[in-house]
Amino acid sequence: MFDVLITGGSIIDGSGSERYRADIGIVSDKIDAIGDLSDASARRVIDASGHVVSPGFIDTHVHSDAVLLNDPQHPQGLRQGITTEILGQDGLSYVPTSPENYKLYNHYLSGILGRAPDGLDMSSVESFRGNYHQKCAINTVTNIAHGALRVETCGMQDVPMTGARLEHAKRLVTEGMEQGAVGLATGMSYHPQAWSTTEELIELCKIVADFDGVYTTHLRDVNPDRGFGGGGVPEALEIGRRSGVKVHFSHTRTSPDNAGKVAELMEQFDAAKDEVDLTLELYPYPTGSSFVLSNLPSQAHNGGPSEITTRLKDDDQRKDIAKHLEGNDRRVLRDFVYSHMPKTPELEGLTVPEIAQRRGTSIGEVTMDLLLENELEVGFWGVPPGDIATWRQVSQDQVDLLSRPDYMIGSDSIHVGGHPHPRAWGTFPRFLGRLRRQFSAISLEQMVQRATENPAVRFGLNGRGLIAEGYFADVVVFDADRMIDTATYDDPKQYPVGIPFVLVNGQVAVDHERCTGVMAGQAIP
Ligand SMILES: [Zn+2]
Repeated sequence: MFDVLITGGSIIDGSGSERYRADIGIVSDKIDAIGDLSDASARRVIDASGHVVSPGFIDTHVHSDAVLLNDPQHPQGLRQGITTEILGQDGLSYVPTSPENYKLYNHYLSGILGRAPDGLDMSSVESFRGNYHQKCAINTVTNIAHGALRVETCGMQDVPMTGARLEHAKRLVTEGMEQGAVGLATGMSYHPQAWSTTEELIELCKIVADFDGVYTTHLRDVNPDRGFGGGGVPEALEIGRRSGVKVHFSHTRTSPDNAGKVAELMEQFDAAKDEVDLTLELYPYPTGSSFVLSNLPSQAHNGGPSEITTRLKDDDQRKDIAKHLEGNDRRVLRDFVYSHMPKTPELEGLTVPEIAQRRGTSIGEVTMDLLLENELEVGFWGVPPGDIATWRQVSQDQVDLLSRPDYMIGSDSIHVGGHPHPRAWGTFPRFLGRLRRQFSAISLEQMVQRATENPAVRFGLNGRGLIAEGYFADVVVFDADRMIDTATYDDPKQYPVGIPFVLVNGQVAVDHERCTGVMAGQAIP
């Protein structure tokens, strides 16, 4: 007698092998039998005829750290077939922080994460994991967040992490790895991470390497003088070379500016492969999303939210900040849509020039005003390319990149706000449904492997990422021909279709495209 029996489906087991017809019997949280189980009985039978049955998808990059605490049902991820999310991305998360530093950094990160509940214990990886374990619909994986680590050991200050500060940080990294973190994640273009040097990261990553963990990085484009080789890919590779850590590159893809140049993009990675154990990830959209606070000049972040607020109210400093914002060619305000502004929701979904025009002011001034009015909680995304040929080329590039065996899928989802980036609702069905059918560069079996076995092996998620006897029953049932994203830049909060069932640790979490309310997610590994 099985608890759940999934009958008649085509199994794509996650290893990249060709699909085959079989039934799957589940007992408790594990896959107990695979084969012809037509004589078996079960408490629950799911008819998967005409559907693919695969391991649940593992999202290697997602900003749901607060969203999961506020809405543990998490339908945006679950309905895509995601059963595991890796947290702490870009170093923008809460562990490890003392109560006081948690309060400060929770406020600072609200433009990207929303506000996590007050008063939670985020002081260790163990307590962080406890905030999610068996309290969410999906499994969670923890990275030590470099931003939090720096706030905790150096304050929200541009000071070097050396001497006693470095020793403190090394102790916290050691303790975090012992308590089940899979690695250290950083975003070198964010603060306080951008105040670090390459040397600091090498010291921290030596410890991560001792635990066979992963260094996950969003590359530096702030304070390039502090980064080996001017930051970017050379810095991350140097950290891998000198610490021996495995390096995982976040959201690496072409953009409208270098569409079609996949070979050039990959040259520097391929050239380093003999020296550095590296992997990469991407999401299937032409533009990104982040929080507006991150665009302020580096020194404006000193001291954190209360001092930033004071600066944004000071006439002289406003002039300098406006100049930086309007002259900043790294991220250009006029191509932004403001997506998350809880105090001015009527302006969510408008471009910055539209908002400035409505208010009769400049894009720099209105940005500072909106930061103040929203207590710094403002998110944005970049407008997609105006011509369809460029967009198509970027999509083709993304499928070509995913056909490489060293790639995985990281949605980079930011779920907060009235008008979020569509990637938070659509990434996995967009890749596995829409783009796979449109650009047939990779088989469904290979694409599933990128979303399941690849991340499970890379991040040491034992017993996950395959349909195999004895493995955890994280399972998704989908219609390969119908599965598609429906979330768009225009109308982003739309669930995909063609994914009727999702199981997390053997529990039916999505039943006929409806979330069941079961909270079977575990903090893993
Ligand atoms: Zn990110």
